[in-house]
Formats: sequence, C-alpha cells, structure tokens
Amino acid sequence: MLAVAAAQLGYRTHIYAPETGPANDVSGGYTRGGYYDAGELARFARGVDVVTYEFENIAAGPIEALATFVPVHPSPRSLAVAQHRAEEKEFVEALGGRAAPWRRVESRETLDEAIAAIGCPAILKTATLGYDGKGQVRLASPADADAAWEAIAGAPAVLEGFVTFAHEFSILLARGADGSIASYPPPLNEHRDGILSRSTVPAPAEIAVQWTEAAALAGRVAEALEHVGVLTLEFFATADGPVFNEMAPRVHNSGHWTIEGAVTSQFENHIRAIAGLPLGDTGLTGRGVVMENLIGDDVERWAELLGEGDAHLHLYGKRDARPGRKMGHVTRVMR
Ligand code: AMP
Repeated sequence: MLAVAAAQLGYRTHIYAPETGPANDVSGGYTRGGYYDAGELARFARGVDVVTYEFENIAAGPIEALATFVPVHPSPRSLAVAQHRAEEKEFVEALGGRAAPWRRVESRETLDEAIAAIGCPAILKTATLGYDGKGQVRLASPADADAAWEAIAGAPAVLEGFVTFAHEFSILLARGADGSIASYPPPLNEHRDGILSRSTVPAPAEIAVQWTEAAALAGRVAEALEHVGVLTLEFFATADGPVFNEMAPRVHNSGHWTIEGAVTSQFENHIRAIAGLPLGDTGLTGRGVVMENLIGDDVERWAELLGEGDAHLHLYGKRDARPGRKMGHVTRVMR
C-alpha cells in the first residue's frame, strides 16, 4: 500500500526483505536479503534515495547501519522505542501519558513480584516481537504464573494490569520533515481474539472527548522522537480518560480506512513525509467510514463484497488463508 502510494506520486519503490511478499507485485525492484546481511544492506542503501520500513519486528542495528548510507525515516530511535513494550511505556509516561499499571518481567521471580504489585487479572506480554495478541498470556490468578511464564518461554516481558475499558481507539498522525503534524480523526477499533476486526470513523462522542488529550500526547511523542512519517498510538477509552496501550512507528491497520475515507491516505502522507513534501489533508471524504478486516476464511466473501458495488475491496495477495491471518480488508464510506 505504501508502494502504491509512492507510485502515484511518481516515485519508484525497491523492496528489501528476506522473502517475497505482496509488495513485490507493485514495486519496481526487489532485493532478497537477510536483515543482518551487512553487505547486501549496503548495496541496497546505495541504490535508493530514502529508506522507510513498515514492520517493527526488525532489530534497530540494521536500520542504524542503513542510516549511515542514506536518510532513514522514521529514525532508528523511533523504531527502538516503539518496538519495546517497556521502553514505549516509559517514554510515553515521561511525556505525561498514562498506561495500565505495569512492571518489567525478566525472570520467574520478577514475575511473582509483578503479580504481587499489580494483582490479577493481568496480562503478561513479551517485550518485543508481539503483534495481534501473539506473545500474550492472561493471568486470572497468581496460580497461572507458571503456565504464563512457560507460554512466553521466559522471554523478557512486561506484566500489565487488566484495563476495564468502554472502547479502544487509535491516534494516527503524520509528522513531516519540517515538523508539521497532521492528525486523522480517531477510529474506534474493535478486536476479535486480540486481532483488529473493525475500525469506525467518526468514533462515538465519548471517544471524541478523549481524542483531544490522546492526540496532544501523540503529538508530544512524535516531537520528542523527532519522528518523520506516520506514527500510531493505541488507547483504551476508560472512565478516567485515555489509557495508552502501545505505539507503532508506522502506518497502521486501524488507518487502512484512510485510503478511500480520508482526503489523503496514511500511506500517501507517510510517503510525503519521508520525501520531504508537504502533508495532505486528513479530513474525511464522507460522513463516515467503516473498515472491516478479512481474516482467514473471511476472504472467501470477496465475490459477495464486490457485488455490493460501493464497497472498496482490498486483497493482499497472500497465498494461504490461515486462521488469524489478515488477508485483506473492505472499506465502506458513508456519503
Ligand atoms: P496489544 O497487542 O497490546 O495491542 O493487545 C491486543 C488486544 O488485547 C488489545 O487491543 C486489547 O483488546 C487487549 N488488551 C491488551 N492489553 C490489555 C490490557 N492491559 N487490558 C485489557 N485488554 C487488553
């Protein structure tokens, strides 16, 4: 989707990845290379004008190495903070944000201490490499500690208190190379089995009230990181205001609605930002918009969805429709 947005602005995209993927079908060039292959990374960097990434489960080291050859946006610092659950919470809290009660867990003993401090129910999450509810275990009581520790295989983690929330929402913003910030209206996000199922804009009024506070916080985070590109912060809307959950230094699934639902999509604004162009309007193109993910077998509904006429179907061209795998999405704009 980034490559498509880049092409529309007249740029050619070259993909670097260990395996081929959907982006290859819409990009001019491809280097098959490992994330730690210094020689291949250097050759790739010499052939491009700017590098970006849309996946935070890569080490900051290779991104730092690329940055010695060519501008890299978002910066390695944005990646390092956003890819680590403890780092991102500390960063956001230092800027006045509020997260669920949490503790770092680095051993079986610190898990017990964290449970004693936070109480149950709680969620144990691996500090890195988690997404879509992966690398997470819920603890109903302290008796679940052994099983939870085993389930995450003793990886560095955080324990979080369970948040009672009315809704989940996200703040998506683009920050340009000149420091200008454009924020999207926040989507209400509904999850199924820890995976985003639907995003709706505009969000209900309760969220609109919390939006201002959350968007201001996201702006402070973007500025403190000197972030260039799209930045996403996820929140729980609680009776006491927005509670920060996690952030991503990239375009986000809860912003896929912006392709048809916003004047400038998150993908185009990301490309504009990293190319040093002015940001585009983040306003809605209609009265509202709903994006529904097609997960696993949902994708078999493609013919029926095309039959709707005004539903915008996106299929990612992934080969196997495994359960829990995001295969595409459909966006409906209310005019
Ligand atoms: P995450 O990968 O951290 O975004 O978690 C995936 C989903 O699990 C979230 O979108 C929530 O629906 C749920 N979840 C995560 N952390 C918590 C928490 N501390 N309290 C309640 N629900 C949570």
